[in-house]
Amino acid sequence: MTRREIEHINHEVLKKQNDIIQRIKQNNENEYHKTGRIKYARVITYGCQQNNSDSEKLKGMLKLMGYNQTEDNEEADVILFNTCCVRENAELKLYGNIGALKNLKKKKPDLIIGVCGCMMQQKHAVEMIKEKYRHVDLIFGTHNIYRFPEIFEKALHEKYTLIDILDTEGFIVENLPVERDEKHKAWVTIMYGCNNFCSYCIVPYVRGRERSRNPEDIIKEIKNLVQDGCREVTLLGQNVNSYGKDLKIEFDFADLLYKINSIDGIERIRFMTSHPKDLSNKLIKVMSECSKICEHLHLPFQAGSNKILKLMNRVYTKEEYLEKVKRIKEAIPGIALTTDIIVGFPGETTEDFEDTLDIVRKVRFDQAFTFIYSKREGTPAAEMMDIISEEEKQYNFNRLIEVQNKISREINESYKDNIYEVLVDGPSKTNKNILTGRTRTGKVVNFKGDANIGDLVNVKIKEVHTWSLNGEVVMSNQS
Ligand code: SF4
Repeated sequence: MTRREIEHINHEVLKKQNDIIQRIKQNNENEYHKTGRIKYARVITYGCQQNNSDSEKLKGMLKLMGYNQTEDNEEADVILFNTCCVRENAELKLYGNIGALKNLKKKKPDLIIGVCGCMMQQKHAVEMIKEKYRHVDLIFGTHNIYRFPEIFEKALHEKYTLIDILDTEGFIVENLPVERDEKHKAWVTIMYGCNNFCSYCIVPYVRGRERSRNPEDIIKEIKNLVQDGCREVTLLGQNVNSYGKDLKIEFDFADLLYKINSIDGIERIRFMTSHPKDLSNKLIKVMSECSKICEHLHLPFQAGSNKILKLMNRVYTKEEYLEKVKRIKEAIPGIALTTDIIVGFPGETTEDFEDTLDIVRKVRFDQAFTFIYSKREGTPAAEMMDIISEEEKQYNFNRLIEVQNKISREINESYKDNIYEVLVDGPSKTNKNILTGRTRTGKVVNFKGDANIGDLVNVKIKEVHTWSLNGEVVMSNQS
């Protein structure tokens, strides 16, 4: 299909959905004139930034339909759960939360309860909700969020659970309405899906194969964000640095970063998540040359043993990973590195685990997101056998946390008495009298001073903790 044909289909899809949005909005306004009651919607998001980004679109569509946002179930006319299936405990939590709404639905039969997202791309999860949670009104997946108004309107008139799941990805619909939680920074999805099929991961089955957005659409979106007050963008994708491989033009992730770096008004560029195999020399060069790209890289290594990396289908070795880290540290001195690590993957012995600790000690990550392996039905790893006991896995996990926390703390100590640029996020959640924000390296800084959300201020670090820094705003020539 040509770009023009895609734009035409996109236009038609949006027009149809927008007509439905207007119809629902009109009904809500008519009801308001009769009852004086404003309508509310609550969107509850589980899982990764991609889900947050999808939820912002759902909130955007609901807002145009006339639903204000609420955090209170009792007040809500619509409650949507945007689900994650990466870990088992997120699934269990979801079932608990849906079950807890049964009495509310009895009290308020017009309440619409919906479940969407990754979990709903799995048959067993949909069956479970159909059978055990009959008070759910609608179920839809990850591939048809753009049709939410249509699905929602049907559900408003149906008595049974409406299910609308697409098995295939379809094409990317641009320009959906978005209700962003923050104005000064934004998530920008640049690609969908993943082609890697790591043996433990459910993502390629529920989010489909890699589809990159057209660069022009991404640039246009970021320019619009700037007009709206945005200063920092985080580019999102399950495997963000493989962006562009499916495009019909010669244009990769590094090229995209160059373009975004030249947009006036954008001060900071971040991206996640990167796969080590796609961390090219070209990308490292761009990161070192573009002043707006933050000195932070999230580079999951998952396991240190080459035997386990092979079983995981990660397609790199421990040595290759360490070599790439060496190159990036040389090119960008002071870069903060963060990672994801799985402990207790099937087949992992304590000896294998020592390789994981070895990488942690050698790289010295600023932070690591650590997990004990969680079996996901439908993945190859679910069929693999465990070698060590749950107790041993827990013991190894605790050792990992201890080693990593010490390193995180030591790195943070090096920030003490130095001045860093911080993008102000607003008052701290735990103490409204102090502000909070992040350094370019992604460190959370709580600080005293006078500044507005979205300001870039210089903060002198006075005190450090394992997960955050405390400081005070200083004038640029003060030290
Ligand atoms: S790179 Fe691997 S772990 Fe990451 S989303 Fe793709 S399959 Fe899952």
